[in-house]
Amino acid sequence: MRGVAHVNVAAIERNVAALLAATTGGAALCAVVKADGYGHGAVAAARAALAGGARWLAVVTAEEAAELRAAGIRARLLVLGPLDADDLPRALDADADVVIWEREGLERLRRLERPARVHVKLDSGMGRLGQRDPAEATRIAEELAADGRLLLAGAMTHFASADEPGGRFLDEQLDRFRRWAEPLREAHPGIVLHAANSAALLARPASHLDLVRPGVAIYGLDPFQGDPADHGLEPALEWRSRLVSVKPLEAGESVGYGRRFVADAATTIGTVPQGYADGVRRALAPGGGEVLVGGRRVAMAGTVSMDSFGVDLGPGAQDAVDAPVRLIGRDGDARLSAEEVARRLGTINYEVTCGIGARVPRVHHRDGRPLDPDPA
Ligand SMILES: *Cc1c(COP(=O)(O)O)cnc(C)c1O
Repeated sequence: MRGVAHVNVAAIERNVAALLAATTGGAALCAVVKADGYGHGAVAAARAALAGGARWLAVVTAEEAAELRAAGIRARLLVLGPLDADDLPRALDADADVVIWEREGLERLRRLERPARVHVKLDSGMGRLGQRDPAEATRIAEELAADGRLLLAGAMTHFASADEPGGRFLDEQLDRFRRWAEPLREAHPGIVLHAANSAALLARPASHLDLVRPGVAIYGLDPFQGDPADHGLEPALEWRSRLVSVKPLEAGESVGYGRRFVADAATTIGTVPQGYADGVRRALAPGGGEVLVGGRRVAMAGTVSMDSFGVDLGPGAQDAVDAPVRLIGRDGDARLSAEEVARRLGTINYEVTCGIGARVPRVHHRDGRPLDPDPA
């Protein structure tokens, strides 16, 4: 074993249940499993989220939707991303709801001459995808609703700064969205209004509306980059490896490309068989990275290579070969969170778990027990 991402599906299940318990007004939950479930494995994450009470799933691409359907997942599914003329029929083949925000999107749907459930997206301040002009968004929605084949299924928006505690911009966005979407729902009582990502779900009950769309929090990651436990969330992923080699280093000897680590005293160097091709960021070392080895925090030593990196075990650690390594996770009392790794890199936990490479197998378990190989 070089390295494995151990993912506890029971933790995802419990996180979804905890998030549902925090929703107000009977809002349903749409679990966002885009980007291979934020690196956790989309199919396993989707099944766990549904078991925890999610009623909808969301992805970004048509391929991601097709992957879930191929695994036999039948829940209501929303494709959030833009879909070109090739991707749109693929998304509909997967029986997914789709999102539009411009007239071109509506025309593309009409040209297909097939039924579709469609959500209209307002850009209430994210400045990325979505219709800026509420009047135009309403016209698009009304034309959609008047089309015999198409169904106006929802109205949505996305927050730009829900993770900033006490931020006023979220309230402005929510106001703008409600002023547009509530009259639309009066005219079309069946439609679903949705806006809240994980941070808004946790911080602004008023944003819950009919459906919440948490992603990062279902994996037990903190949208505010603090401690997930503060929100009753439990990290689902551990990134594990083992020391494959341990050897003594004399003062003055170096480790790794560019000789960027030189021992100032005799020490012991262990080699972890995970490198930047596995998603260990080269920017971490030397100088910034730590991992857990045998339940102890140790510093990374030298440059991260494509397939491995060194750790400074200190003098007299020759017997550490085969010791368990955690690049993220806990071992005994020691804990290294995705939030901490992100802080060291100047990024966010989202990027850390999404960045775990395709070469690292995802192994799913339920509180330490193997999964039923053929889940119902
Ligand atoms: C990714 C995404 C989400 C989930 O956001 P989190 O911050 O991970 O909870 C919700 N809605 C949209 C449109 C997204 O793209």
